[in-house]
Amino acid sequence: MATLSRLVAVPTSKVKDIGPSRQHALAEVGIRNVADLLHHIPRRYVDRTETADIAVVPVGSEVTVVGEVTSVQTRRPKPKLLITEVRIADDTASIKAVWFNLKHIDKTIREGMQLSLSGVVESFKGSLQMKTPAYDILNDTTETLVTGRWVPVHPQIAKINPWVIRRAIRSALQRSKPIVDTIPAESLARLSLIGREQAYEQIHFPETMEQVVPARNRLAFDELFRLELALALQKRRQMLDSTGIAHEPTGELVDRFLNGLPFTLTGAQKQVLEEISADLRLGYPMHRLLQGEVGSGKTVVAVATLLQGVEGGWQGAIMAPTEVLAGQHYQGVTALLAQSGLSPDPLGPLSDLGMASLFASDGPAVHMALLTGSTAVANYRDDITRERLLEDIASGQVDVLVGTHALIQEGVHFARLGVAVVDEQHRFGVAQRVLLKEKADAVDPDLLIMTATPIPRTLSMTIYGDLDMSIISEMPPGRTPVRTTVLSPLEEIAAWETIRAAAGEGRQAFVVCPLVEDSPKVEAASAVAEFQRLSALMPALRVGLIHGQLRSGEKDQVMAEFRAGEIDVLVATTVIEVGIDVPNATVMVIEDADRFGLSQLHQLRGRVGRGLHPGICLLLADPTTDESEQRLRAMASTTDGFVLAEEDLRIRGQGTVFGARQSGMADLRLADVLRDFDLLVAARHDAFELVDRDPELSGHPELAEEVRSMLGDAVEWLFHS
Ligand code: ADP
Ligand code: MG
Repeated sequence: MATLSRLVAVPTSKVKDIGPSRQHALAEVGIRNVADLLHHIPRRYVDRTETADIAVVPVGSEVTVVGEVTSVQTRRPKPKLLITEVRIADDTASIKAVWFNLKHIDKTIREGMQLSLSGVVESFKGSLQMKTPAYDILNDTTETLVTGRWVPVHPQIAKINPWVIRRAIRSALQRSKPIVDTIPAESLARLSLIGREQAYEQIHFPETMEQVVPARNRLAFDELFRLELALALQKRRQMLDSTGIAHEPTGELVDRFLNGLPFTLTGAQKQVLEEISADLRLGYPMHRLLQGEVGSGKTVVAVATLLQGVEGGWQGAIMAPTEVLAGQHYQGVTALLAQSGLSPDPLGPLSDLGMASLFASDGPAVHMALLTGSTAVANYRDDITRERLLEDIASGQVDVLVGTHALIQEGVHFARLGVAVVDEQHRFGVAQRVLLKEKADAVDPDLLIMTATPIPRTLSMTIYGDLDMSIISEMPPGRTPVRTTVLSPLEEIAAWETIRAAAGEGRQAFVVCPLVEDSPKVEAASAVAEFQRLSALMPALRVGLIHGQLRSGEKDQVMAEFRAGEIDVLVATTVIEVGIDVPNATVMVIEDADRFGLSQLHQLRGRVGRGLHPGICLLLADPTTDESEQRLRAMASTTDGFVLAEEDLRIRGQGTVFGARQSGMADLRLADVLRDFDLLVAARHDAFELVDRDPELSGHPELAEEVRSMLGDAVEWLFHS
């Protein structure tokens, strides 16, 4: 009885016909063991159930013919032109294939081989030929796997003949039988999935094409099930390994805070806050991802979350990816608190002397501070120093600390960190989560990760599958969606007109300069040049400049001027991508927009239309690829971030996305989370349910072993207590 884990342990060299050099060639493409070999799935199948006679193939139609190679010739009529001609013959006639400048093809194809050719049949000087057909080397004539049946065409592996691979898989499969099926029978029955061994048999050597899809689905399900099982176990493990805080919010601060706001929460905000409150009360730490479009009101939710911890005597932290954003959060949150009368007396020294200040509120107050590489500010003392602030954090004087992610890396010590909010999950990975855990010594703080980048459901069930999700699905009332238009570079004048018109009404604009990958310096230089050009083009307007090469003090200065309305047009690089909030800015011009990714474009566009005035987004672009055209079309057609995120995933494919946050994704060879979405949902459901019922998988030892061996080191830690 072979389990997959056992097959993982059998090197390919044990398979018939695989010697050291072939073993090496297989390893080059990641095929190291028999399980890998079984997952080397055919890319297509050639129909040899009936042999199409070459004599009767109709000229002008696209066909696949099979025959024996009778000649291989190359010639070089011109220095830069290499022509390879291969003739194949079956019992009825022969046909010639012609390739141009395809080197080495004459080395791969040799006389006597069985070759299949797919392409359009032409008549040339009275004889049949195909130009640059797709070809597959089937075998020498002796192989029984290729006659009278569907022939699997496995992905080519350099230096190994296709039929060797085919035969190796055949023999590996035969010798692996019977293959143990570890997936619970209830799942298989409910989803009408075929048996595992049958699935391997049918995907590699189908008798009819109808057998392929059920086989593929079954094997894709296995991959998704293993992945979801790993996630379920990981989530459980996180719970077991941590000492959480069962917060007991009194409502004292939160109620005041919410009642003091000049608006009421949207239904979505209320719902999300309930989900969070429930988590906070539980005895294990929250790991929740809060998604909401830019402007959907995440900050209010974050503050209400932190205040619930503060009510119980814990400290809170907000971490942002950049200093600019940390500063902005600090300002935003202190302003919200002030609105609700939760600010302490800012004249610290006076109150130290026991003198009442005019600004003092009689109720409770929240002590807030901002700590970044360059700033130390607090809302309870005007004259705070860095040293003093660090002391106040360590003594518990500071209730809520705002900073960059560096907060958790540098020597900042909290007295009792209870809740942490992290803005933008993309730059906050698992490693940082571990660091954060260590910050809080004895207990693990509750963690809320906020992102304005909508995550498609496919991904929230896979790469983010160990986090709980909350979504603010509605915008506060009164927002008008941003109107988006794509302009060609020749029409750029219209963009500057739009900016002038907006400025005439007292509004402001962003101009985002072309993206320069991997070179902030070059990017900054091009922003400077664009700044000069636009300053000259729009002499009546005050044009400003911000880019990543400025010192953070300079950046703050420019942002402050823009916020204060002292700059009409801000020429910027993508440093403005995340979170910058200037409600009076209504126009966003993005140059070379075809070079940006969809989520980046969406993020950038989110900078406008944040106030009462409708926003306009102009994409200057000269798209050169299908992909970039699709992106621009998507941008112009919707402002729904989830739709765009799904579209982005569809355009780019899952591979690009999974690179970022591996762990288990490497096992997804057949499954495509977009195409197999229904299977994914089912797999997640069943896997999580199984872990609920059998947390240690003690009733399913072979399945546990399989997850472990198929997902490798990434999940190894799950299995050690
Ligand atoms: P996000 O962080 O999701 O981008 P913010 O929390 O910064 O959004 O909110 C954007 C703006 O909307 C802020 O000015 C905030 O005060 C306001 N706001 C938040 N919630 C509401 C609401 N329920 N009704 C009206 N305005 C709101
Ligand atoms: Mg915000």
